[in-house]
Amino acid sequence: MIDFHCHLDLYRNPLSVFEEAKKRNSFVLAVTTSPRAFIATSCHFKPAPNIMVAIGFHPELISSRLNERSLFIDNIEKCLVIGEVGIDGSIKNKDSLTIQRSIFEETIVKSNDCGGRIISIHSRGATSDVLRVLEKNHGRSVPVLHWFTGSQKELDWAISIGCWFSINPNMCITKSGIKTIARIPIDRILPETDAPFVQKNGVPYMPWDNTVTSYLSNYYNMQFDDMKAQLHNNLKTLLNNRGNKDAGKI
Ligand code: MN
Repeated sequence: MIDFHCHLDLYRNPLSVFEEAKKRNSFVLAVTTSPRAFIATSCHFKPAPNIMVAIGFHPELISSRLNERSLFIDNIEKCLVIGEVGIDGSIKNKDSLTIQRSIFEETIVKSNDCGGRIISIHSRGATSDVLRVLEKNHGRSVPVLHWFTGSQKELDWAISIGCWFSINPNMCITKSGIKTIARIPIDRILPETDAPFVQKNGVPYMPWDNTVTSYLSNYYNMQFDDMKAQLHNNLKTLLNNRGNKDAGKI
């Protein structure tokens, strides 16, 4: 299984989930929420070929961690995949919108200057804001919109500027999520869990969960294994198409 956006470091028992994911997943993108969390996580998880730790700066944490801004931007150069980053337009984060936009834009510009990065992006309540920045600056980077919740019009806009999408189990059961999934080209989709935040009956999904793959195989009327192969191909394409193949290892 692939999990292209998971907070492996935020489970109650991160090391045992990490060990299990090493065995059960073909790929996990372990996103982080701050550059310090990235450094700590990278130290705790011994390098594994199928688990990649991404450096992030979560929009909801930015205002309380402004002192980590340059640590974050300076490390983009060394990382192939960036996330979780983005803009959050929820009422509770309105006060930090200006600084969120500024850091997101700096992230996108820096990633492009470094030859292009794969970027896992949060856009809740701020889809148009995020797309405006990407449209201007994403260059050779590949933006992957995680848990897309914008309108159909914004979705078409995102597709037209080359965005990819990571889909979680929650989207497979909500009306808006189902509509979104139906409109995304199948070769731009990757499964995610956003765990431990996305849960079923109070229990977090695990990185090896197959809800999304099985939803997609039903929706496209394909065998489960064929859909799994399609998603693996997508992942391969994404990793091979990154702007700079020689970007530093994480
Ligand atoms: Mn997340």
